[in-house]
Amino acid sequence: MSQVIRSPKMYDVCVIGSGAGGGTAAKILTEGGLSVALLEAGPPVFPEKDFKMLMWPYELPHRGIGVGGHAAENFGEFLAPNGAWQIEGEPYTSAPGSNFQWFRSRIVGGRTNHWGRIALRFAPIDFKSATRDGLGDDWPITYDDLSPYYDKVESYIGVFGTHENVSSAPDGMFLPPPKPRCTDLIVKKACDKIGVICIPSRLAILTKSVNGRLPCHYCGQCGRGCVTASNFSSSQVMIPPAMKTGKLTMITGAMAREVILGKDGKAEGVSYIDKATRTERRISARAVVLAASACESARLLLNSKSAQFPSGLANSSGAVGKYLTDSVGSDGWGIIPQLEKMPPHNHDGVGGMHMYIPWWKFDRKNDFPRGYHIEFGGGRDMPGVGEFNDLLHEEEGYGAKLKKRARQTYGTGIGMAGRGEMIPNPDTYCEIDPNVVDKWGIPVLRFHFKWSEYEIRQAKDMQETFRAIIEAAGGVYKTKTPISGESPFGIAAGGKIIHEVGTARMGADPKSSVLNGFCQAHDVKNVFVMDGAPLVTNPDKNPTLTIMALAWRSSEYLLDEARKGNL
Ligand SMILES: Cc1cc2nc3c(=O)[nH]c(=O)nc-3n(C[C@H](O)[C@H](O)[C@H](O)COP(=O)(O)OP(=O)(O)OC[C@H]3O[C@@H](n4cnc5c(N)ncnc54)[C@H](O)[C@@H]3O)c2cc1C
Ligand code: SF4
Repeated sequence: MSQVIRSPKMYDVCVIGSGAGGGTAAKILTEGGLSVALLEAGPPVFPEKDFKMLMWPYELPHRGIGVGGHAAENFGEFLAPNGAWQIEGEPYTSAPGSNFQWFRSRIVGGRTNHWGRIALRFAPIDFKSATRDGLGDDWPITYDDLSPYYDKVESYIGVFGTHENVSSAPDGMFLPPPKPRCTDLIVKKACDKIGVICIPSRLAILTKSVNGRLPCHYCGQCGRGCVTASNFSSSQVMIPPAMKTGKLTMITGAMAREVILGKDGKAEGVSYIDKATRTERRISARAVVLAASACESARLLLNSKSAQFPSGLANSSGAVGKYLTDSVGSDGWGIIPQLEKMPPHNHDGVGGMHMYIPWWKFDRKNDFPRGYHIEFGGGRDMPGVGEFNDLLHEEEGYGAKLKKRARQTYGTGIGMAGRGEMIPNPDTYCEIDPNVVDKWGIPVLRFHFKWSEYEIRQAKDMQETFRAIIEAAGGVYKTKTPISGESPFGIAAGGKIIHEVGTARMGADPKSSVLNGFCQAHDVKNVFVMDGAPLVTNPDKNPTLTIMALAWRSSEYLLDEARKGNL
């Protein structure tokens, strides 16, 4: 084996990953005075060059569809080397009978470079839902423990919204929301008719300047990366202040392989592959924060075997990789003929929905546990790549007739996406595949995944609600879904909603959980996990705001413990 190159410097903390969790940790820890080595598997990102906000779709190489059309599969025209469902040389596997899809980023800022920016707080009940219905487990912390950190994150990153007092969707520290668009008003009116709550959405986009970042200029192109940093990405909002402290050493192209355990039973550093030279290197640190994304952090822990932890670091409970969940997702769309008569109008706005439907049936008896929210969109924004593909399949002919039809139908569709809570089940988890390694020689993950009847009934309810709303708006619901087979009621494959969490969950009992309420390993007190892995439940709310609030809180705790000499 080639020689391992050790860094001569001892850092206070080594953080692995620079996404939502790792970026937050790097900011809080460096501002608190600790020296941090940040290992990031991907390259740096250069917004002026890599983000495509200011380009017309037809100016993009391959007209934005990418070589072989793969850009479309991987969220379109955002052409920075940002991530994909499959990364060459870095496979993962699914066990027979399971289909799990894993979207990974390899870039500074991780998946926050092009996330949907939907920033929702979990509700008080989400931390104690097992007490209410007996399913799964409660968190070891409460909403009140996390609420001050939601306040801090929202105030710092900028989230717009309104105060509504809906118990399933707590209010936060909001910037003013953008005005509703025409399609929002149509959906809102339909929702009012059938008793569904529809309110301004909550997105991490600035409608006013915050900390020198410019407000949004409503180009609607967030998904292609915001050059003015008016939406939140860790690369533009968390990493720069950490850099400014002079305490951050960021090492890009550094694929962490294993956390190294010292003779004293504490982590003493991290071994990583320097991708440019394909050599193995080592960082020495007094504490280690894993924030490589929920499943990647589980992989790191499971691959960090020692005499003390033969089944993986901090895994005496056997819970690492278990309790994996994704959001329940089912989509649909309909046509609103009334919109055909609309004159062309300015539909500019933020890159995302201006209104949404929070979980509204929380006070009723439903035939599935927990709940879901609905994201919706439509209307006349700038046509993207592949916008008229469906029309070309439906309409015959070409030239003026086809153009007229495109103008007539453009912007008349409304799409709906339900996002709901999955209950952890014993058939859904990840583990190390004993037979497969990646191109760096690191053993890869194998996924097991199963939806239960709970989630399938939820998807059915989503489809029924989408139809009811579209029909109440005078429209025609177009989506048809099977009632059985691989995707009953349009339920998406596991992982497809990209809200995978729970693989190193926190808990009061070290026998059934990996971390305590501060994301600190029960077994190894100088190891922390600060991404989606610590989440005990995966409620209908998208997880990233909670990942950041937990990382902020845990980093403050880490700072405190470091000051007291407890790590
Ligand atoms: C298209 C899309 C839309 C989304 N929309 C929303 C939304 O609207 N709201 C929401 O809440 N969430 C959304 N998400 C999910 C959100 O992006 C994730 O929840 C969030 O980014 C997770 O943060 P993280 O820190 O755990 O991981 P990531 O952001 O994925 O960051 C992990 C980082 O670790 C690095 N890394 C991985 N492995 C290693 C290794 N071995 N060594 C070193 N570095 C490593 C990666 O390169 C990456 O930079 C969306 C995701 C996508 C892809
Ligand atoms: S819509 Fe606003 S936040 Fe999004 S890319 Fe354009 S300016 Fe940036």
